[in-house]
Amino acid sequence: MKDTFTHQGMRKRLVETLKKKGIVNNNVLQAISKIPRHLFMDSSFVDHAYTDKAFPIAADQTISQPYTVARQTELLEVEKGDKVLEIGTGSGYQSAVLLELGVTLFTIERQNELFKKTKLFLPKLGYKPKRMIFGDGYIGLEEEAPYDGIIVTAGAPFVPNPLLAQLKIGGKLVIPVGDNVQIMTVFTRKSEAEFVKEEHGEFRFVPLLEDKN
Ligand code: SAH
Repeated sequence: MKDTFTHQGMRKRLVETLKKKGIVNNNVLQAISKIPRHLFMDSSFVDHAYTDKAFPIAADQTISQPYTVARQTELLEVEKGDKVLEIGTGSGYQSAVLLELGVTLFTIERQNELFKKTKLFLPKLGYKPKRMIFGDGYIGLEEEAPYDGIIVTAGAPFVPNPLLAQLKIGGKLVIPVGDNVQIMTVFTRKSEAEFVKEEHGEFRFVPLLEDKN
C-alpha cells in the first residue's frame, strides 16, 4: 500500500478544486489532503482517484465524489470527540474523513461483501471506528444513541424516523433525500420534538436500500 509524492501532489490539487467549489472548512480540507483515497479504490481506477468524481467499488456501489464527502462532512459540523453514526460504510473513505476529524465513529453497512472488506481494510490504514456494523441503516443504532451527528451516504427515498429519534438535542442529521436526484437535507434537533430543516442543493447517490444483503 503505497502513498507516493505523486499521490500527495494530486491530493493538493484536489483540495484546491474543492476550495474553488466552495468547501471552506479547513479541518475537512486537511483531512482530504491527508487520506490516500487511491487505496480505497480498485486498482484499475487509481489514476482517477484524485479527480473530483465518484467511482465504482465492490458490489455495484460507489465511493462518493470528494466534493460530496467534503460538503456532507462540513454540513455535519462535528467537533473532536463528537459521537457520530454513519449509514453506508462503503469503501470507508467517508469514515476516514470523519476519523481524521477526531470523532468517535459508529458505521453501518448493509452489503456483506463490502462490510467484510472495509472492516479489514480501514484499521490497516490506522482508521479505527468504535464499531463497524453489518446491518440496516434505516433503523440506525439505538443501543449507542444519542449521537451528535448522523450522516447518511446513500440516497434516502424518505427520512427514517429512527435516525431523527437518535439525535442529541443540538445534533444534526445530514441526509440526501429523493429517488433519482437527492436534495442534501440537514435536520438540527432543537428540542425533544422540534427539528429545523435546511436544504443544500442537488446530489446523486446510490439508493439507500432496506434490509441487509
Ligand atoms: N460512505 C461511502 C459511500 C458508499 S455508497 C464511501 O465513502 O465510500 C453508499 C453505501 O451505502 C453503499 O456501500 C451501500 O451498500 C450502503 N447502503 C445502502 N443502503 C444501506 C442501508 N440501509 N444501511 C446501511 N448501508 C446501506
